[in-house]
Amino acid sequence: MKNLILLFKDQLSLSLTALKRARPGIDTVLCLESVESAPAHHQKKIAFALACMRHFACTLREEGFNVKELSVTHQRKYPSLLEEIIPLFEEGNYQKIIVTEPSEWKTLEEIKKLQTQIPIELLEDDRFLASKSDFRRWAHNKKQLRMEYFYREMRQRYRILLDDEGKPEGGKWNFDQENRKPPKGQLHFPKRLAHRASPILKEVLALVEHEYSTHFGTLRPFYYALTREEALLELEDFIENILPHFGDYQDAMVAGEPYLYHSLLSSYLNIGLLLPLEVCQRAQDAYYQGKIPLNAAEGFIRQILGWREFIRGIYWLEMPNYGKLNFLKATNKLPSFYWTAETSMFCVHQAVTHTQEHAYSHHIQRLMITGNFALLAALDVREVQEWYLGVYSDAYEWVEMPNTLGMALFGDGGIVASKPYAASGKYIHRMSNYCPHCSYDPNLLLGERACPFNALYWDFMARHASLFEKNQRLNTILATWRKFPKEKKEAIQEQAKIIFSKIKQELL
Ligand SMILES: Cc1cc2nc3c(=O)[nH]c(=O)nc-3n(C[C@H](O)[C@H](O)[C@H](O)COP(=O)(O)OP(=O)(O)OC[C@H]3O[C@@H](n4cnc5c(N)ncnc54)[C@H](O)[C@@H]3O)c2cc1C
Ligand code: SF4
Repeated sequence: MKNLILLFKDQLSLSLTALKRARPGIDTVLCLESVESAPAHHQKKIAFALACMRHFACTLREEGFNVKELSVTHQRKYPSLLEEIIPLFEEGNYQKIIVTEPSEWKTLEEIKKLQTQIPIELLEDDRFLASKSDFRRWAHNKKQLRMEYFYREMRQRYRILLDDEGKPEGGKWNFDQENRKPPKGQLHFPKRLAHRASPILKEVLALVEHEYSTHFGTLRPFYYALTREEALLELEDFIENILPHFGDYQDAMVAGEPYLYHSLLSSYLNIGLLLPLEVCQRAQDAYYQGKIPLNAAEGFIRQILGWREFIRGIYWLEMPNYGKLNFLKATNKLPSFYWTAETSMFCVHQAVTHTQEHAYSHHIQRLMITGNFALLAALDVREVQEWYLGVYSDAYEWVEMPNTLGMALFGDGGIVASKPYAASGKYIHRMSNYCPHCSYDPNLLLGERACPFNALYWDFMARHASLFEKNQRLNTILATWRKFPKEKKEAIQEQAKIIFSKIKQELL
């Protein structure tokens, strides 16, 4: 008897476990289009997901599969996408549903509920390099979970960048110390690929313009890759032309430059057009071919084999409670400049503008600009997470939540990060060329022209001093705060009060 194979929007890989079970000509693959109705969801993010799914449906047909598409434009009679499937399943006279586990906790719960009504076979998602049970085993009995140790095990398991004796190439596991160069001198940023506008894309762009034009961000120009072939071109372009510089300037920020030497591959990895192991192996090959330095290869591979897998592991280990955490009790309203980019803080203006235009900003902008500001200003953790989940084309809860709540906001109290990624304007000044464009001065702590990040930074440390007491990595900072004369402390706290009031009145 025939089966119905379900395909979620981020499962666009021919090697997906559920697709490997599909019998061409017998089973039917049901492509489930979905769009979040919240206006936070970027127009480019919506267009990307829909166009990739529709292209993938064509690929499946070319491979001989029977394909049905549950399009977003179809009238929905049921409150949830999965409930829509029940009548389809019954009408089609299928034996069972086969589905690879979804990437998000809530959808998995829905499937489990549905399993009580119809036969569903749930398969593991083996596109990730550490399964949920691998990660659970690794985490078991550990007092602290640190990415670095997880990453070393992953390097050994997949034999990535190891010498003949199984030792790390170059004698070290991590070359991060070499990857923190500020953007000094004349840097050349290669032009990025732009892909053809297929008839499918044209149709999708028209649909988004018609249905979702009130959503955040700009839709055109649209240049994302939409098929596996195009995503592979992105990978090759990155490896050949950009990766050689990736390591050195990984933490840098440059005015008017949204991409620098970042790969832009997260959207393709997360939607399934590229697979993490093939990307890591391609970077490794480039190193052994002498095309890229070790710090670039290692730094890039660590992001995927280490951070990406670690973040997913934490999500599944800690959900559903993880989503309820708010360790620092941050509840201030998200200022409207997160949507409009209208702020006199040039660094924030840049990060939000890039986000509006590209549904992308690079890691340091996400972490040390919009994330750092949200941390220091105690912005509501749920609102901040909704923002990150909506505005980036690579955002899915499994990866967005631990990055935002854990890494950027320290809202999990240290499960992801060993200390809060809090920084003053001095850090931003050192790692970017933003500050000369700004009406604030990163070297001033007090007064009208003082960079808001400075007083907020010290006020943040003072506010949470008792919570951070036991964190050795914060000892020096807290000791410095304590040594400040009383008048200086009072002046900083007064300055912070003024900034908080300006944030509330939307005057920053
Ligand atoms: C607050 C915040 C929210 C974030 N939300 C997301 C998100 O929703 N989706 C997402 O994919 N990434 C997220 N990240 C991680 C990271 O910022 C993006 O993966 C990266 O900016 C994507 O751009 P890129 O492909 O050019 O990455 P590169 O800098 O070129 O890095 C290479 C690859 O490594 C992986 N990677 C790097 N860092 C991380 C990380 N911390 N977690 C997971 N994967 C990582 C990505 O797959 C990325 O494509 C977030 C980070 C922060 C601080
Ligand atoms: S001075 Fe402060 S607010 Fe302005 S760009 Fe520099 S860090 Fe950002």
